[in-house]
Amino acid sequence: MKRACVYCGSSSGNDPSFTEVAITLGQSLVRHKLDLVYGGGRVGIMNVIAESVLNSGGDVIGVIPQSLMDREVGHDGLTELHVTSNMHERKSTMANLSDAFIALPGGLGTLEELFEVLTWSQLGFHRKPIGLLNTAGFYDSLLTFLEETVKAGFIKPEHHALLTVAKEPEELIEAIKTARPTEVDKLGHTHQTSPADT
Ligand code: AMP
Repeated sequence: MKRACVYCGSSSGNDPSFTEVAITLGQSLVRHKLDLVYGGGRVGIMNVIAESVLNSGGDVIGVIPQSLMDREVGHDGLTELHVTSNMHERKSTMANLSDAFIALPGGLGTLEELFEVLTWSQLGFHRKPIGLLNTAGFYDSLLTFLEETVKAGFIKPEHHALLTVAKEPEELIEAIKTARPTEVDKLGHTHQTSPADT
């Protein structure tokens, strides 16, 4: 595992622990020799994690669509910045560059990115680990809802288990390093493909 993709808020949120966990996760990624792949912005928690990795001596690869660059929210101090023509290309580029995915607290963009990589995994398009940092119980109600969807028969228990949850960055990185995503896809087929197939 060489690169971890982090999805997180383009806002800072109103609890200081959201910013604190982004700083700690950045330091942990560098300690584990993992480069950061993220959305390339210099706003909110996104900026905090990018700065944390850079300040700790790590490499940061940003992937941002031209439309957001034009609105001057791109970070100009990264190791690499990929500018894509649209959001879809941006998300597939981030996924293809990464060996694992981690979601921090965030809003609609973060949730969309998290659920997209989970959906690709349950369809067997990739077998990369996916982690959720449940800082200060931020995701408790979402996790309860996901359990409801399993009980209601919409998500298989083995696909629910594709999401590794932890409260602290070190614990999450250790857990995703040993995670073994199911090989059985939603249609019951066993196969291995990569996000390039999406
Ligand atoms: P949100 O959780 O709604 O704040 O959206 C954050 C996620 O969406 C990030 O992981 C980014 O990939 C993307 N995103 C949203 N806003 C921006 C922005 N201003 N600059 C770069 N990426 C953004």
